[in-house]
This record gives sequence, C-alpha cells and structure tokens, in this order.
Amino acid sequence: MKRLIILGSTGSIGTQALDIVRANPDKYTVVALAAGSNAKLIESQAREFNVKSVALFDEKAAAELKIKLADTDINVLSGADGVCELATLDGDMVLNAIVGIAGLRPTLAAIDAGKTIALANKETLVTGGEIVNRKLREKGVKLLPVDSEHSAIFQSMQGAPAKSLKKIILTASGGPFFGKLKEELQNVTVAEALNHPNWSMGAKITIDSASLMNKGLEVIEAVHLFHVSASQIEVTVHRQSILHSAVEFTDGAVIGQLGTPDMKVPIQYALTYPDRGMCFEKLDLMKVGTLTFERPDTDTFRALPLCIEAINRGGLYPTAVNGANEESVKLFLEGKIKFLQIAELNQKAMDACINKTDFTVDDIFAADAAARAVVRASI
Ligand code: NDP
Repeated sequence: MKRLIILGSTGSIGTQALDIVRANPDKYTVVALAAGSNAKLIESQAREFNVKSVALFDEKAAAELKIKLADTDINVLSGADGVCELATLDGDMVLNAIVGIAGLRPTLAAIDAGKTIALANKETLVTGGEIVNRKLREKGVKLLPVDSEHSAIFQSMQGAPAKSLKKIILTASGGPFFGKLKEELQNVTVAEALNHPNWSMGAKITIDSASLMNKGLEVIEAVHLFHVSASQIEVTVHRQSILHSAVEFTDGAVIGQLGTPDMKVPIQYALTYPDRGMCFEKLDLMKVGTLTFERPDTDTFRALPLCIEAINRGGLYPTAVNGANEESVKLFLEGKIKFLQIAELNQKAMDACINKTDFTVDDIFAADAAARAVVRASI
C-alpha cells in the first residue's frame, strides 16, 4: 500500500489522481489532501478517502471546513504554512498538483521531509529548479515527473545512460490557435482560448497552452529535470497529441512514448514507477492514422521564445516571466487584458527583472512579486 499525500486534490490533476486511487484500492491509500479554497469538494474527498489531515490555503475556507468536519477526527490545517506542513506528514509520496508558484514551498517542505515527489506543478522547477535539484541531491530524494511530456521523456530514457542523451523532442499540441496569425488573435475571447482541442485541464494551463507559454515553461522544466541546455530541446507541434515527447540518443536513435491524450497515464506512472499500472484507454494507431510534426510559429506565439530567453539568461529571469504570466493570465481570464497582451506583459516584466545568480527562496518570491507588480502597473 502506497500512502499518498495529494496537494491540489480539487483540481484537474488532483481529481484524476483520486480516480486512479478509486480504481486501485488495493494499491493506494490517501492520507492527506490540500487545496486552495474549495471547502465543499475537499470535504467530500476527505470523507470518501477517510484521510487523516486536510489543508486549505485560504484561511476563511479552512475555518468553514473545520466546522464541516467537526463530526470527524480529521485534522484541518490552514494557510500557506498549513499546506507545507501537510506535505511533511506521515506518507510515502507527495503528489504536488497545486497550480502556480504556490507549489514551490510545499515541494521544498516535502523534500526536506524525505518524501518521494510526483510533480505536476511545473512552476516549482521553473522558479526554483536549482534549489530543488540541490535539495534532492542533499536529501537523496526522488522526484518523478507528472507533466505528460516530461513523463514521456523520462519513460523514453529508462535503461539509457544519461550521457547517451543528445536531444529532447518536446511535442506541443499547438493549442486552439495553431496556424493563426497575430492579426487573427487580436480579439480572441476567453472561451475560445479555453477551448483546447485535445486536453481537458485547469484554466491557467489551458490559457498557457493557447499562448505556447506552457511549452516555454516546459522547456525550462525539462532543463532542470533532465540536466540539459535549452539548445538541446527541440519543440515540435504535433497536433494529434499522440507522441507525448521523445529523446534522440547519440547514435541518432529516437525513442518516444505514445498514447491517448489522457493525463491518468503519466499520473499513474509516477505513482507506480518503476512498475506499470492499469490501462485506462488503449491507443489504436489505425484509428489515429497520421502523425504530423511542424515548427512552432515563434513570431506569433512570443511566450515560447521568451521562456527560452529567460532560461538562457538564468537566475531569476524564469521566475519573473512565470510570475508575470500568472498575473497576466489571471487578468485575461477576468477580461481585463487581451490575449496578445499576455506575452507583451511577460516580456515587459522580464526586462524589468533585477537579476541575481545566487538566490534564495525569498529572492524568488520577491522577483515573483516584482514581476506581478510590473504587469498590474501596465494595465
Ligand atoms: P487546476 O486549476 O485544475 O487545480 C489547481 C489545484 O491547486 C486546485 O486543487 C486548487 O485548489 C489548488 N490550489 C490553488 N492555489 C493553491 C494554494 N495556494 N495552495 C494550495 N492549493 C492551491 O490546475 P491543474 O490541475 O490543471 O494543474 C495543476 C498543476 O499541474 C499546474 O502546475 C499545471 O501546470 C500542471 N499540469 C496540469 C496538467 C493538466 O492536465 N491539468 C498537465 C500537466 C501539468 P482550489 O480548487 O481550492 O482552488
């Protein structure tokens, strides 16, 4: 029995992870759950899985939850510290499916407590990649990728020595606006941007997919996960989302992982690694028929080259671009800015970043706050 702590249990990844647990009651138990403010859903999850502890980031929602769970002996924690504490409780693995930089400190707390990490929260590595890697080495802790592309890369590298890796081929679906030019994107609506052709995900990552910011964040994530430079990562648009990514070895051999676009596969692989779990939906290659690969349009979708520039500049630049993006996506979802302004504001905040090469977690949060302030001051 693997005892799981799930952070972000009420979101897209969190609820799919719980589906996997439901389908495998002999393999997993859930000991603790955390989320932002959704007291109603986390209450029902806590009762269904009979967990020991829950945490909500939002203090008011946590107080409500405490009342709702008063008839149980479930421990209710609250605030950012409560979420971090929950990540250190007795359990075998922490699945971090929180959205945004809010996931960084809980990841670090879980590593400190020696937990194996299943990481969906890409913003952890985008902002704190160096610090996370240092801590993983110090504590001898394993971190397994959940992001589908990174899981595919990880799966493709099983059994291969790290030195045999030449290049990563990172696939991108292209999102709902693939093939569109800047002029055509001037007035796209929130609903159009949220209409992803292949994947059903949380709102923030869906907008990031539409702007190709998500692919940019994934390039940075891959740099930290696989210890490569950004120049070793080739992004290719693959509309069918069947090849989830691939690696090229020194002898030119390319190995990739294929499957239906279903996040349960990479989530489950992180939970079962190195074993394989159950099949949710089989891939029928005859039905798929054709797989296509195209270059991304980096003139129209500026967020991708911006992220590559950020990781090449290093230091706090990736944090600045990520923080700006979290803020600009929020403003776009609220209807306060236009779609193309997302990348423009991210660029502006990155240019305003005061960099440090040797930095602490506090420096990361200061750079994040500064980037958000630049975005807010620009509208
Ligand atoms: P969602 O928006 O669907 O869910 C986010 C989760 O995080 C919710 O449970 C939310 O709680 C919780 N949360 C938000 N803020 C906090 C906080 N401050 N403290 C604790 N919990 C918080 O996001 P997704 O599931 O789509 O994505 C989660 C992460 O996984 C992201 O980093 C994303 O990039 C990554 N990812 C997602 C994929 C997907 O298919 N969805 C694919 C690959 C990666 P509440 O509901 O209460 O607000």
